[in-house]
Amino acid sequence: MSRENAVRFGPTPGDGSRFASAWSDLAGIGRDQLRGGFSRHVFDDAEMQLRAWFVEQAQRRGLEVENDRNGNVWAWWGAPAPGAVVTGSHLDSVPGGGAFDGPLGVVSGLLAVDELRLRGVTPDRPLAIACFMEEEGGRFGLPCLGSRLLTGAVDPDHVRRLHDADGVSVADAARRVGFDPSTMGPDPARLASIGTFVELHIEQGRLLRSVDPLAVIGVASEIVAHGRWRITVSGQGNHAGTTAVADRHDPMIPAAAAVLAARRVLSGFEGAVATIGRITPVPGGTNVIASSVALWLDVRHTDALVTAAIVDAIVAEVRAEAAAEGCTVMVQRESMSDQVAFDPGLGLEISGRLGAPVIPTAAGHDAGVFAAHVPTAMVFVRNPAGVSHAPDEHADADDCAVGVQALATVLETLLT
Ligand SMILES: [Zn+2]
Repeated sequence: MSRENAVRFGPTPGDGSRFASAWSDLAGIGRDQLRGGFSRHVFDDAEMQLRAWFVEQAQRRGLEVENDRNGNVWAWWGAPAPGAVVTGSHLDSVPGGGAFDGPLGVVSGLLAVDELRLRGVTPDRPLAIACFMEEEGGRFGLPCLGSRLLTGAVDPDHVRRLHDADGVSVADAARRVGFDPSTMGPDPARLASIGTFVELHIEQGRLLRSVDPLAVIGVASEIVAHGRWRITVSGQGNHAGTTAVADRHDPMIPAAAAVLAARRVLSGFEGAVATIGRITPVPGGTNVIASSVALWLDVRHTDALVTAAIVDAIVAEVRAEAAAEGCTVMVQRESMSDQVAFDPGLGLEISGRLGAPVIPTAAGHDAGVFAAHVPTAMVFVRNPAGVSHAPDEHADADDCAVGVQALATVLETLLT
């Protein structure tokens, strides 16, 4: 398909409204009245409602639904067997996140099955739509938990002990919703049965538009290296009125230096980003000098060594400021994912078939975890404003319908 055809590749009249109708089922689930957008965290009421919706939709289509040992849900068209084609995404969100990050890939998987049936496709191998648990790490801090557990990329004992902001462990949260946490861990038979994994996702930036202003769909080349670090600055809690400046050991001062350093040091590293989007002062009182401040630092760059150098540069500035303030600093790496290159042959084939440009992404995905084990690809649907992980995240229904058609075309190629 040529680039000219690519802009016309897409829905027949009514596809946009069909998409919107399926999509509207999710609109009321997990709305966050405080932050705006949606807060759907793994195993909470909203995420469980989404799972129930997915199961109902899958069963309505005659798909066989199963929970795996790691809290991931699978809906099978055809009995599970080696060489299976797997699509899907996740149902959880960041706090106050957008509607599309995750659920778009799940809904598109269901609608792609409808489309394949309309096309009269008879698959030669099974297709599964999967929903992976805790992709965002929004509740327990470690992203892509479901795919990492399945592939053996994380120690299940470590995962079971992770806890949320209320002190609830993964094990307890899983038990509360009927999952047995003792079974969590590598699932080599399931992994070996996956022939290809394709994840459709909303684009989380505006790169696609800058590469090709007319493109509705993009195909991923790579996920850049990215990681999360927790920086804890400890000082001395004290009275905000009676403590002279000379007597203070205020951890908020080095914390502020960290925020500014996360922007300033980037000038030396082309293409890198660093963000501190979460700060927790303890005890957190208006008239109280904090005794400690925890900051979470997120750093991303194509090269993992550059990512590490950026963290080092930021931490060096925090340590210097902390020394001057009489505070101490502790740094803990919470997660790190090296650069992931998706299967180049598969990516080129999909890009050619869809007439879609190939672009890198700086967002992490379950597809990045699977890419180390099976041929994996990602298809992006354009995001006009480029906003994601925020309430303003948006994709047009017509574009999403193009995404469904594109996913169906990719799956048809892989299934027949
Ligand atoms: Zn996502």
